[in-house]
Amino acid sequence: MDQAAIDRLAAQPVPKGRLLIGGAWVEGQGGETPVISPIDGRILTTLANASPEDVARATADARAAFEAGRWSRAAPAARKAVLHRLADLIERHALELAVLGVRDNGTEIFMALKAEPGSAAGTFRYYAEAIDKVYGEIAPTAPNVLGLVHREAVGVVGAIVPWNFPLMIGAWKIAPALAAGNSVVLKPAETASLTLLRLAELAIEAGVPPGVFNVVTGPGRVTGEALALSPDVDVLVFTGSGATGRRLLEYSARSNLKRCYLELGGKSPNIVFADAPDLAAAAKAAATAIFRNAGQVCVAGSRLLVERSVHDAFVAALCAATATMRPGNPLHLSTQIGAVNSETQLAGNLRFVADAQAEGGQVVLGGTRALAETGGFYMDPTIVAGVAPGHRLFREEVFGPVLAVTPFDTEDEAIRLANATDYGLAAGVWTASLARAHRMIRALRAGVVHVNTYGGTDVTVPLGGVKQSGNGHDKSLHALEKYTDLKTAWIQL
Ligand code: ADP
Repeated sequence: MDQAAIDRLAAQPVPKGRLLIGGAWVEGQGGETPVISPIDGRILTTLANASPEDVARATADARAAFEAGRWSRAAPAARKAVLHRLADLIERHALELAVLGVRDNGTEIFMALKAEPGSAAGTFRYYAEAIDKVYGEIAPTAPNVLGLVHREAVGVVGAIVPWNFPLMIGAWKIAPALAAGNSVVLKPAETASLTLLRLAELAIEAGVPPGVFNVVTGPGRVTGEALALSPDVDVLVFTGSGATGRRLLEYSARSNLKRCYLELGGKSPNIVFADAPDLAAAAKAAATAIFRNAGQVCVAGSRLLVERSVHDAFVAALCAATATMRPGNPLHLSTQIGAVNSETQLAGNLRFVADAQAEGGQVVLGGTRALAETGGFYMDPTIVAGVAPGHRLFREEVFGPVLAVTPFDTEDEAIRLANATDYGLAAGVWTASLARAHRMIRALRAGVVHVNTYGGTDVTVPLGGVKQSGNGHDKSLHALEKYTDLKTAWIQL
C-alpha cells in the first residue's frame, strides 16, 4: 500500500451518481442530494434521488429480467464465470474502490481496503464457487413415488444496506442472491452509495445482464420505502437500525407479505474474567473491538463487562491501549480511527455521552468531538465506567466510539448482565478455563460468541442475530436459504 497512490486517487473529482435501471444509467425523478464527505464536511458530489416511479421501473425491469431467464435460467456454471469476473474486477480496482468509499463514509483506509473491496471480492468468489455445488434432494418415500426437492431462485430481491461497510455488507446480500439466479434491486444508504454505484458498473462490465442488477439511490423514507412496499419484490434483505427494521415489516404486511430478513445491530457484551490468559492482550482487543471504524460496526463490543477483582487494573490498561489510538484523516495509512459518518451521527454520539453522565456514568476517557478545525466529523474514543443496567448507554446501540464498562462478581452475574438487553448479535468471552468458555457459549444469547479474541470472522461462518438483532444469516452456505425457495415434486411411478 502506497500513500502517494491513495493521495492521487483522493484528489480526483467524483462523478455525480445516477440510477442503474434495466441496464441503463439514468437521472432520478426525485432530484439530487449532495454527498458530504465526513473527512472535511465538504461536498463530494451529488446522488440521484429515485422517486417511487423510478423504483417501480427498477423492480419491473428486475422482474422482466428474471422472467426472461437469461440469468435466472443460465447454467450455474455460467453465472459462476460472470461472478468470478466481477471478483477479478473488484480486485483490480480495489484501491480506487477503497479510496472512494473512505471519502464517502470515513472508514480508516487500512481497514477499508481489507474490509471493503477485499471482503467483497472474496464474497463474490465464495458464492460463485458454491452455486454449482448445491444439490437438490430425493426424499425417502415409498418406492411407488419419487419425491424431489428442488431449490429455486425466489425472483426479485430488494436489498437495503447501511453506510458503515457498504461494499462488504452489500456483497453479503448481492453475491448469494445473484449466484442463486435472482434479480436484485439495491438501495444503498444516503451517506455511502458511491462504491456500490461503482460496483454496479463493474457488474455490467463482468457480464451481468441488463435488469438483473439495479441500483436506486435516495432517501430511506422515499426510495427505501417504495422498494419495501413494492409488489414486485419477493424477498427483502436489510441491514440497519431496529426502527427501520420495524417499518420494513409493516411495509411487508401492507403490501405482498414479502419475506424480510433483518440484521439490526447490537449492544454486544465483551466479558473479561479475572482468569483471562493475557489481560494485556484482552485490553488491547477490547479497545479495537469498539473503536475501529469509530465504533460504527454492528458487532462492536460496546459493553465491556469486567470481573471486579481486575476491574480497575483492566480499565487502566484499556485507557493506556486506547491512548495510542487517535482519530485522524481516514485517508492516511497510519490512522486507526477514522471519521464519524455524518454530523447527525456525531451529535447522537455526544448526546449518549451526556446522558450517560447524567445517569451516573463516569467518563474516564474522551467524550468530546475531535478535529473540529478540519470541518469533518471526528470523535475521541470514549470510555464510560460505572454504567448500570438501567442506563441508556447499557441498553441502546450508539453506533459510535463509546464504550460502556460495568463490573461483575460472578459468572452468573456476568451472564445475567450480558443477556440483559433486547439485542443478541455478538459477544466476547476472555477466560483460560475451557469449561467456562463452553458454559458461556451456551448461556449467551447471541449470534456469534468470540472466545479469547473479539471480532474475527470470514465468509465461511454465518452472521446473524437473535432477539431484536434480527433474523436470517449473511455469509456461509446458510445465506443461500434466504435467496432460494424449496419446491417439491411428487411423482407417481
Ligand atoms: P442508520 O440509523 O444506521 O442510518 P437506517 O436504518 O436509518 O440506519 O438506514 C439503513 C438503510 O435503511 C439506509 O439505506 C436507509 O436509507 C434505509 N432506510 C431508512 N429508513 C427507511 C424506510 N423507512 N424504509 C426503507 N428504507 C429505509
